[in-house]
Amino acid sequence: MPRTPAITRTAVYAISALIAALPARAQTPMTGAEQAAFDRHTSHAELMSFLYDVQARSDHMRVEELTVTNEGRVMPIVYLGAPPPSNPGAAWFSGRPTLFFTGNVHGNERAGREGSLQLIRELATGELQTLLDRVNVLIVPTLNPDGAENRSRSNSLGYDMNRDFIVAETPEITAVLEKILTQWWPDIYVDVHNGGSWPYNVTYQATLHPSADSQLVAFARGPMYDAVTRHLATHDMIMYWYSGPRRLDSGEYVWATTEPWARKQHTYGGLQNMLTLLFEIPGNWTLAQQADNARETMEGLIRFAADNATDVRSIITGARRRTVDAPPANVVLQIESAAYPQPEQFFVRQQGQAEPVLVTGQNRTLYRPTATRPWPWAYAFDRNLQKVADLLHRHAIQVEQLREPVTANVEQFRIISLEWDTQPYQNHLNASATTELVPGSVELPAGTYIVRMSQNAARVIAQLFEPDTDDSLVVWNFLDHELRAPGGRGGRGGRGGDGGQRLPIYRLPRPVGLQATIVR
Ligand SMILES: [Zn+2]
Repeated sequence: MPRTPAITRTAVYAISALIAALPARAQTPMTGAEQAAFDRHTSHAELMSFLYDVQARSDHMRVEELTVTNEGRVMPIVYLGAPPPSNPGAAWFSGRPTLFFTGNVHGNERAGREGSLQLIRELATGELQTLLDRVNVLIVPTLNPDGAENRSRSNSLGYDMNRDFIVAETPEITAVLEKILTQWWPDIYVDVHNGGSWPYNVTYQATLHPSADSQLVAFARGPMYDAVTRHLATHDMIMYWYSGPRRLDSGEYVWATTEPWARKQHTYGGLQNMLTLLFEIPGNWTLAQQADNARETMEGLIRFAADNATDVRSIITGARRRTVDAPPANVVLQIESAAYPQPEQFFVRQQGQAEPVLVTGQNRTLYRPTATRPWPWAYAFDRNLQKVADLLHRHAIQVEQLREPVTANVEQFRIISLEWDTQPYQNHLNASATTELVPGSVELPAGTYIVRMSQNAARVIAQLFEPDTDDSLVVWNFLDHELRAPGGRGGRGGRGGDGGQRLPIYRLPRPVGLQATIVR
């Protein structure tokens, strides 16, 4: 056997040394952060060129410029599949579950953005390609291109866009609602942030609102959570619930969570019968590790969906069927946090200690209803409230209008207390109201809008129409001009609250024969 010429050996050593010097994930093309050895984040210009570079190397990826931000930046979405589905019908016909990932809705939280760029490359050109035989994947790496460039949580008009899923006043969230969520109806929908609690690599939250379908939520909290945990364990990563520990005056710890408002995307998706999750990556990790944490968590979920495609589809179908065929007895007005029955062990970092310690305490990452009303057959509202009909259409809610007047047994909302905030929030002065129901028979004139509850979005409908919820039409100022402060001084901007006012909204508790037409 001839001896290897020295020159060749040298070349081999040189190549080996070169490979060893590269970061573990060095693939082509590289993200901006990878090129800078994670000394900085990927810029918007780099993000755009990266997506088109990856696309040019793969037949499994399409890019769409979904909308343009207030500052003129493109917000792209990536469609991945074998082949990428060309429209929602094609995704449905493929028989494969569709996953939808969003990152960076808070502009200064970029773990999901960096991780999802790496994920896109691996799905389109790397070792994860074969998963696309079993799932469709849609990814918006940044929901907040302006906030990312400006290093701010909100967009350039001051909106926290993860609070905009009910009123949809930003172009970014409007595009996601109208073009993706209510068109593609993804089975699994995940929102990735920077938060949670070290030393966990990631913290996880399913839809917490207690009005969500209980079997759907149990699936997200059970088999999905367990599968992602197992996947992460193979990479020496650990996961627990969002958000983190709170120390009580007694010195004991509890594991606490955040408000499950419908205006947040992972709550909203749950109310629309999607398996919706929040992933939060603690900012204590290096940027390179944050990207790894986010990418591996998303990969673990994609593998779960690929391995359990039939279960994923049937749990969603079951929830949608129950919503229209066998809805719960009540709609949920108000909620409070609650604990799992058994204490659990979790890591906390005590003051002055470098290392985390394992403690035992209550896992308070549940909510339960504190006020409910019977699930109505429909809601009706005044024909002058065209803007309410427009809002409902954004949520894929079917709206009808009476062609002929009808006399019906109704329940009207009478205001017990009413107050407007004095500090702006989301460019609103939110109102809050408590109401009681006044039953009676009324003639609803022609033109009255009707919204039946026998539709997939029924839980969103109830959150909007019941004035006492956290995200009602009253809260979001759709009825301000109908409401007055005490003593009849009228209008918002202060305290309200005399009894007696009735809202131009009715509950129809039982079916009524109607002559009505669908309005678009
Ligand atoms: Zn966030």
